[in-house]
Amino acid sequence: MEKLLISACLIGTNCKYNGKNNYLELVEELKKKYELIPVCPEILGGLDIPRNPSEIKNNKVISNKGIDVTKEFNLGAKSALEIAMNNNVKIALLKDGSPSCGSNYVYDGTFSKTKIKGNGITTILLKENGIKVFSENEISKLL
Ligand code: SF4
Repeated sequence: MEKLLISACLIGTNCKYNGKNNYLELVEELKKKYELIPVCPEILGGLDIPRNPSEIKNNKVISNKGIDVTKEFNLGAKSALEIAMNNNVKIALLKDGSPSCGSNYVYDGTFSKTKIKGNGITTILLKENGIKVFSENEISKLL
């Protein structure tokens, strides 16, 4: 069975900044076709649940309290890549809009819910290492 790296929040893990999840019912269909490898880069990077929301600005990741969490986000991205490599993963399904997992859009760093085209920190690293990243809105391409 092919392996698929997946944002842990999409399978129902309460690892979002607000302690909730982004459970997607279609994940149950994915399980029939793939061995799911769940990762939450922000937790892997040492951040807490719950935590302050963060956005990318000028190549840094800054929380809504003005704290620079770039180091934690980079560490989480590296850990997620390591897990992907160790499992010989070639594809990933990641939650769009997240400063870690986004693949079509992220927020613009002003905490005003303004979306801009772009990738999260983990998505960038995975793509640089040849892993194809899909967002949850593209799940039909994997089913
Ligand atoms: S970092 Fe990714 S997996 Fe973790 S909560 Fe955010 S979107 Fe979900």
